Amino acid sequence: MSTTTLHLASPTERDQRARLRALAADAAEELADADADTVLAWAARTFGDRLAVTSSMAEAVLPHLASRHRPGVDVLFLDTGYHFEQTLQTRDRVARELDVTVVDVRPQRSVAEQDAELGPRLHDRDPGACCAQRKVEPLRRALAGYDAWVTGVRRAESPTRAGTPLVAFDESFGVVKISPLAAWSDAEVALYAELHDLPANPLLDQGYPSIGCGPCTRRVAPGEDPRAGRWSGFAKTECGLHGGPAADEREREAS
Ligand code: SF4
Repeated sequence: MSTTTLHLASPTERDQRARLRALAADAAEELADADADTVLAWAARTFGDRLAVTSSMAEAVLPHLASRHRPGVDVLFLDTGYHFEQTLQTRDRVARELDVTVVDVRPQRSVAEQDAELGPRLHDRDPGACCAQRKVEPLRRALAGYDAWVTGVRRAESPTRAGTPLVAFDESFGVVKISPLAAWSDAEVALYAELHDLPANPLLDQGYPSIGCGPCTRRVAPGEDPRAGRWSGFAKTECGLHGGPAADEREREAS
């Protein structure tokens, strides 16, 4: 049996959400056609140290761009306990080589604790519940300390991301969500990374154009959808971070 805990926002939280929602609506209009630098300059000016970037550590384009506008910016890495060794090495290089502060965001339970409580290999049986515990809830906890969240989501990545706005209020996480690379192509990302000689996950050159947790990521064949290697065999295509209310529901069921 699952239980649902309702969180009723206090008047202060409601005011804060209303303020950020209005700010996001204005910015979405003003910055609708802006380039990534203009969007990030606005974000750094507006939010200061209340701004966080997330990175999956596939490449370092977003952390690098953000650090040019906010040196030392916090870069949140969802350390699920299931990452490839190459991903952890890329995280360490980003922390060493870029002007950013990498923050490891961890689930409440270790993998061993989750296995003991819910049985081994939850990712094979119910990846939605596993992502809810190891990604969505930890990110929600981490973002409680910020007003704005910069993501690397791009429209070219998949049909489900085709409508990604540059700026919006994220009702699920209660922060302004900023996707400065939304309009970038794969080629533009690769070119920027090359021009700035940025750290990159070696798996990108080994048939993994989209890199998530080890158990849920496989190589893709040439010409295959770049995200076809994520949760292969399941209808699931997103981890729930960019999924709105449906992801919230999964998180509540899993808690
Ligand atoms: S991607 Fe897979 S292993 Fe990682 S949190 Fe989601 S279901 Fe679990």
